[in-house]
Amino acid sequence: MPKELNWSHPSPQLPQSTDPAFVGAATNHVPELQRSAGMEKNLLGKNYEDKIRPHIDLIDSLRSLGVEKDLALPAIAVIGDQSSGKSSVLEALSGVSLPRGSGIVTRCPLELKLKKDPRSTEWRATISYQNKKEHLDSPGRVEEAVRRAQDMVAGTGKGISSELITLEIVSPNVPDLTLIDLPGITRIALRDQPDDIAQQIKQMIKRYIERQETINLAVVPSNVDIATTEALEMARKVDPTGDRTIGILTKPDLVDSGAEKEVVQTVRNQAYTLKKGYMIVKCRGQREIQNNLSMEDALKNERAFFEEHVEFSCLLKDGLATIPNLAEKLTTELVSHIARSLPNISYQIRSKLRAAEEELNAIGRGVPDSEDEKSQFLHTKIKSFSMAITHVMNGEQDGSTEDLKLYTNLRKFFSEWEKLMKNSNAQFLNEMRKEVNIYENRFRGRELQGFYNYKRFEDILREQILTFQKPAVTLLNSVKDLVQRCFKNEASKCFDQFENLHSSAVDKIEGLSHSLEQEAVTTVELQFTMEKIIYCQDSIYTYVLTRERSAAAPTTGLPVQQDQVQPSKDQLICHLQAYLKGVTSRMSNQIPLIIQHFMLREYADKLQDQMVRLITNNKQFTYLLEETHELSEQRQRLKDQIQRLSLAVKRLTKFSEGN
Ligand code: GDP
Ligand code: MG
Repeated sequence: MPKELNWSHPSPQLPQSTDPAFVGAATNHVPELQRSAGMEKNLLGKNYEDKIRPHIDLIDSLRSLGVEKDLALPAIAVIGDQSSGKSSVLEALSGVSLPRGSGIVTRCPLELKLKKDPRSTEWRATISYQNKKEHLDSPGRVEEAVRRAQDMVAGTGKGISSELITLEIVSPNVPDLTLIDLPGITRIALRDQPDDIAQQIKQMIKRYIERQETINLAVVPSNVDIATTEALEMARKVDPTGDRTIGILTKPDLVDSGAEKEVVQTVRNQAYTLKKGYMIVKCRGQREIQNNLSMEDALKNERAFFEEHVEFSCLLKDGLATIPNLAEKLTTELVSHIARSLPNISYQIRSKLRAAEEELNAIGRGVPDSEDEKSQFLHTKIKSFSMAITHVMNGEQDGSTEDLKLYTNLRKFFSEWEKLMKNSNAQFLNEMRKEVNIYENRFRGRELQGFYNYKRFEDILREQILTFQKPAVTLLNSVKDLVQRCFKNEASKCFDQFENLHSSAVDKIEGLSHSLEQEAVTTVELQFTMEKIIYCQDSIYTYVLTRERSAAAPTTGLPVQQDQVQPSKDQLICHLQAYLKGVTSRMSNQIPLIIQHFMLREYADKLQDQMVRLITNNKQFTYLLEETHELSEQRQRLKDQIQRLSLAVKRLTKFSEGN
């Protein structure tokens, strides 16, 4: 079992989002930090455990709830060109070997949660990915486990994935830190790698480092020209002033002699300035790894290297060198960053939770599980549809568009119907008046001129009345379409989440409209058959005829109420007019009554009845209540989000109560 690291962890000053001294210490001057850390060691040692770990734990626990799907959380992302030494730095910080080799070794983001537990004497670790969790009992198993996890997540090829692998290490000898290791920036695709691999990796890195909540750890070898490194370039694009970028210089032992001064300038933040500055570390080189140099010894070597180095020893004195100092700086930075971000995180979580709850309410809570509840649920749904139909019938639809306002449209149809009959009669009688020959040609039989045959009179009327039959059926169809549209509209509103229930309702709406239309047409036809009987009560007819005569008097000069044995043509027209008036006023009510009876009353009653019958057919519940796919997905997503965010709120509340 590889030996574990052991360095004493000085206690940095405590993070308080409101404490300017802390923010100052965290952001800039490590020497001050060390001095204060030294002083606080005894006073605040306990406080360190009490304050730092909870801040990091809070964010870790929010992250493991999946809150990062909703908002970005404070994190440290490690970025750098391939072979810049990222894995070596992470190894040194965590005390465990991570997969290394040539090419892209880190193929998906690896969240490295380091938890310092001074009370525990043993080392333990857990690796989690894709809902799997594996416990590891020794540092020697980590490398292999990470490799396996990557193969599962990103495939065994050379591809990459943005899915997160989490490695949690609890030990008395690790710093309190959570870091995210990202694939190294590469320029050319290797064989069996997708051509756009470099682009894919950059995209993934960009997604992490562009978040304001991320501290970017840009790893850069000391022996290259810092201005040309892609990592710093990328970090500068998303963080131009370097407010949240820390530079890490690696491989100080490989610096060409003569170039040391430049390196010192960079680390002292005098060359390529970053607000959060630089640190320099020395990790195990290839040879040291081959010689199985333990990481503990590597730390000793590192310290010795800086102490003895003519040019670099000053950096150690300034607290800008070595892995332990880096660990401390990172922890302090992270915790101060968390403390500063908390009010905003809390605000975002609460408002996202509210929004999700509102959205869920808007789409409904969904179908219950048990059969009993389902029956109840279906009952409620159908009842509300039934109510909606009743509202339509009562002319109480709300929010309908013009074309769906039932009675407005019915009145329009029916008054047009009356107008149609009146116009047709007027036109017909006019023709009779003007064209002397109409009667002669169409209706006159064997009678002598001047005689009017009663049977002929009846024929004239029948012929005129029958011209209304077709328009009556057309009217019937218009009303049928209108009512059907209104009902379908209610069905869509009530059942839009349930495809099967909806189509079942639509089937009934269409089926009933078809059968009721047949009945209505038959009744309309019957009405026209009856209209062939030319009949009117004497009292009514006398009354109407008198009025027609008096209206006609000024033009014809006929004496009012003059009974003549042989009616003149004018008198014939008066009779026709009187009778047709009666017919028009009867039919203008009668046809709408028939239509309303079948296409409205019966239609609504039967539809409501058939819908209620759906409830009694037990087997169909599940089928009828099957939701549309998108909707159940949307609801599930919202439910998950609400659960996640509610838990997050609880944790935030508990955290603020504990502080
Ligand atoms: P990564 O690709 O960025 O993860 O880089 P690695 O951590 O795998 O390091 C690449 C190579 O640089 C490895 O062979 C390391 O042993 C070596 N290396 C890392 N840090 C140092 C260092 O400080 N000094 C020397 N000499 N070699 C180092
Ligand atoms: Mg690596």
